[in-house]
Amino acid sequence: MKTPKETRAVPRDTRPKRRTGPGETVVRHGVPVSGGLAAGPAYLVLPQEIQVDERQISVGETALEVRRFRLAVRRARDEIHALRECLVGDTDETGLKVLDAHLRLLEDQELLKSVVESIRRDHVTGGASLRSVFQKMINAFESAGTEYFRARSADIRDVKRRILKHLDGNQREGSIIPEGAIVVAPELAPSESAVLDPERVRALITDHGGATSHAAILARSRGIPAVAGLGDLSHHITSGDWILVDGNHGVVVVRPGREELKQFAARERRLRRHSAEVRRRQSEPCVTRDGHPVKLLANIESADDLDKVIASGADGIGLYRTEFFYLASSHLPDEEGQMRAYRQVLKRMRPRPVTIRTLDVGGDKFASYVGTSRANNPFLGLRGVRFLLLHPDILRTQLRAILRASVHGTAQILFPMISSLEETREVRRLVEQVKEELRQEGHPFDERIPVGIMIEVPSAVTMADFLARESDFFSIGSNDLIQYTLAVDRGDEKVAHLYDPFHPAVLRALQKTVEAARRAGIRVTSCGEMSGDPYGAALLLGFGCSSLSMSPPCLAEVKDLVRRVSMTELRNLVEDALRRPTGAEVRQVLLEALRPYIGEEASLG
Ligand code: PEP
Ligand code: MG
Repeated sequence: MKTPKETRAVPRDTRPKRRTGPGETVVRHGVPVSGGLAAGPAYLVLPQEIQVDERQISVGETALEVRRFRLAVRRARDEIHALRECLVGDTDETGLKVLDAHLRLLEDQELLKSVVESIRRDHVTGGASLRSVFQKMINAFESAGTEYFRARSADIRDVKRRILKHLDGNQREGSIIPEGAIVVAPELAPSESAVLDPERVRALITDHGGATSHAAILARSRGIPAVAGLGDLSHHITSGDWILVDGNHGVVVVRPGREELKQFAARERRLRRHSAEVRRRQSEPCVTRDGHPVKLLANIESADDLDKVIASGADGIGLYRTEFFYLASSHLPDEEGQMRAYRQVLKRMRPRPVTIRTLDVGGDKFASYVGTSRANNPFLGLRGVRFLLLHPDILRTQLRAILRASVHGTAQILFPMISSLEETREVRRLVEQVKEELRQEGHPFDERIPVGIMIEVPSAVTMADFLARESDFFSIGSNDLIQYTLAVDRGDEKVAHLYDPFHPAVLRALQKTVEAARRAGIRVTSCGEMSGDPYGAALLLGFGCSSLSMSPPCLAEVKDLVRRVSMTELRNLVEDALRRPTGAEVRQVLLEALRPYIGEEASLG
């Protein structure tokens, strides 16, 4: 078992409490980020205030300040190495990966040089310089067009806090989370989440954050039930309060009454029985009752995820989010580095297919690389393929890497954020151009590599018939398709209640897309979060998706559903759902039809 030395000290909670009466029950709905039920005593984890020395310093002091800064970086690195030691041997490597990403930031010479230069040039302290250099990077990441990158800004913030702590001479030892606790925090930094030990922490609840924050990803991969976006709930909680957490539906009950406790315990027993049954059937073939085979694929962000993918029995990688390469360093990754990474994934998965999606970022976060300016609304700005077409050299490098790696397995290329036929034609033209270059240079590659597009923007749905004629396959990005169709920011907890995968408008968009693909005779898959939710998966299959791609822990539950239903039932279900005018009614139809096949605790969007 790990020794979570790093777990932060719990400063006395001096914040004004908005407490309800001492024994009063509080029920709060938040964003469900990691499934499961848990009950236990609260353990509050509050952020430490770190003071930054704002003084202007004299020229004579700069050398000392630079030394102090370098020493603080070294100490931060040593600290992370010590934390890594606690996690080595852990079967779940997610925590190690977070710490490794932090080490890469602490070893990024360009970044550290910028801080040192600012100390010398602006005559400011190491703390002030660090804060301004890191803040620029944080701003760039936070204004990014994808929630994934915005969530990564938490890593930079975390590393900044760690260095500042050492500059401040503040090296307070953390206290140990009591076994069986429900961790309650306004927000958790990624390195704090990384050392959350599932053997000690029963659940995690936070005031802020969405489903793709690092804390959420870590909680999910470690099987710790978690709910985020709970508003000011931590203000209503004192360490020791009894808490019930429903990570499936995003509900938290603080200081529950006797009846609530009894019902919750009964639900926990049912869920345990159900999970054990699903796990027993995990290795059976993925075929519906009436004999339709269904391919279940996995979403990954790097080669490090492959062990979990293979253990899950996935039929391939349906979405390889390549943003990872651009995350850890302050430079654009080169062709060789990318090629090696893609090759590793392709070889490991061979002969199973691997769909490599080209870079999907909002332009702003790369301001430091390519000089783009900050956009007012990054979701509607220079994102995905728009960014790539404006920076064809970046795309060409990536395409060369993918194509060169393609001889090592079964690769497919996928373009994100396509909103017109012109874009589709242009990216395909670039693929052909790069292929010709490689032929001339004598590099072998898969001449017949399929080139597909993400359907995640309403205009792509509307134009799906034309797009299908000029694409090898479609991949539905439900995460974005829902946000753009309903005009609901997918990362904003304040409108999370409006983000509805079962809204009739979303269903119609799915129908139109799949129908266009069917008419053109191309495959259509789906790789958003909807695919990993059994109810969402049922709809997507009923519409006619031939495969679904999801995060690996979701595979077992979806496969279990596939094996229990018939395709005829799913098609009838879709027909019925399409006749319903509201999301609530669609849910009702789904619940009634699928209740016999889906565990009572599985989520419904
Ligand atoms: C999606 O939008 O559904 C998707 C899979 O892509 P991402 O979540 O990376 O935007
Ligand atoms: Mg998307």
